[in-house]
Amino acid sequence: MYTSCNYACQPGFNASCALCCGSHNYKASFHDIDALFKERFKFFSNMLAKSNDIVSALKACYQELSHMTLPAIHPDATQCPFVAYTDSSHTIIGCLLYPYCTNFDYRSLFMGAICKTFSCSVNTAHYADRIQTAAKRCGDWYYYSLIIHDMDLLDLLCNSPAEHTIEECKQKAATMLQNQKACSTGIITKDTAK
Ligand code: SF4
Ligand code: SF4
Repeated sequence: MYTSCNYACQPGFNASCALCCGSHNYKASFHDIDALFKERFKFFSNMLAKSNDIVSALKACYQELSHMTLPAIHPDATQCPFVAYTDSSHTIIGCLLYPYCTNFDYRSLFMGAICKTFSCSVNTAHYADRIQTAAKRCGDWYYYSLIIHDMDLLDLLCNSPAEHTIEECKQKAATMLQNQKACSTGIITKDTAK
């Protein structure tokens, strides 16, 4: 998750992404992941409200949140327990340790420097216009995250203003994710999941 700008992570229009932190690395439906992120947000908000010593509380919180999870699609890939909704309306996902939640950046306590400096190809000014278009047209976290990281889908969405294009892109993104889930369960091989 990038820190210096929010071109792609939280671009507005009710869109958000935490793909690099493992937001989609769950062998589960949208509804199950949605429920998981709500549960984490509630737990974290309660912890913040009650705590006088946030550093100690965060350590306990990390243990608890690590148990609030779902099976991974790729067990060796990131599935950070601090990914959750970051607003009480359960619209925007992101990092619970990022300053928009705590006023201080606590990420290095748990994840080292890697996620403080990680960047991704679409999170640059070069993609800003396309990211904004995708954010406006998706207006969510689930499909937006998948579509902006697939250049074919991003181009399709941005180059075709037709109303049905967004549904077509969502369907393709869902199939893409489904194939990854199937890969991890051995139903189909990676070669047939292109
Ligand atoms: S994958 Fe890219 S856009 Fe998404 S949260 Fe990470 S840095 Fe931001
Ligand atoms: S601590 Fe935050 S930024 Fe780092 S991997 Fe976890 S959710 Fe992402």
